[in-house]
Amino acid sequence: MLKYSKTKLAVDFYCIDQEYVRCFLVLGEKEGLLVDTGVGGDLRAYVEEITGLPIKVIFTHADGDHVGAAEQFEKRLMHPSEFDYYRRKNTDPVPMEPVWEGDILDLGSYRFEVILIPGHTPGSIALLEREKRFLIGGDSIQTGGNIFMFGEGRNFEAFRASMRKLEGLIGDFDKIYSSHHDLIVKPEAIKKLYTGAGKVMEKLVKSTPESLHNREINSYETDGVAFYAD
Ligand SMILES: [Zn+2]
Repeated sequence: MLKYSKTKLAVDFYCIDQEYVRCFLVLGEKEGLLVDTGVGGDLRAYVEEITGLPIKVIFTHADGDHVGAAEQFEKRLMHPSEFDYYRRKNTDPVPMEPVWEGDILDLGSYRFEVILIPGHTPGSIALLEREKRFLIGGDSIQTGGNIFMFGEGRNFEAFRASMRKLEGLIGDFDKIYSSHHDLIVKPEAIKKLYTGAGKVMEKLVKSTPESLHNREINSYETDGVAFYAD
């Protein structure tokens, strides 16, 4: 089982690392919000060491390293555009409740707005905290490593459209918390991801072959960002 470790990022705001992937835990006045559930393990027990608050989970997307301990929590939110992908990708899916674009998750201490950003997966979301000026971006915004854009459900065109959408909100946040690689990503990365994804789509970037999980994959690096793609 992969071990958990935690880092306090701000008052009532924690990052829970599980080796190569992160969840985030936000403590509200009446409940806690857990963003993703990692690859599996006894996450509930780990969270209960941090807080006694009832926990609601919201999933940035449904890849296996983000929904691993989903069944341990009773209240689970996901964007409906992700439901089909979630059921196809995971062997033991559990019921999810819908969360929609523009929904506000108001914890009292923190207030998150749901932003739909398809591309990495069909129903990927980001969470925007306008007052505290940060974004939780899931896997869609990463620096320091490759964004997985190979296999079913990935879509570079949608990804670019999502990066353009986030660019329109860039005045509302100063940093992005990411699920992999660099914990904190600068907002400038969004433009680089938009540009870089376009260059990969237009086949302007030379690929480097890599072996990943016993699979041959192409790595594309450009404009300070990187993707794995077919
Ligand atoms: Zn991931």
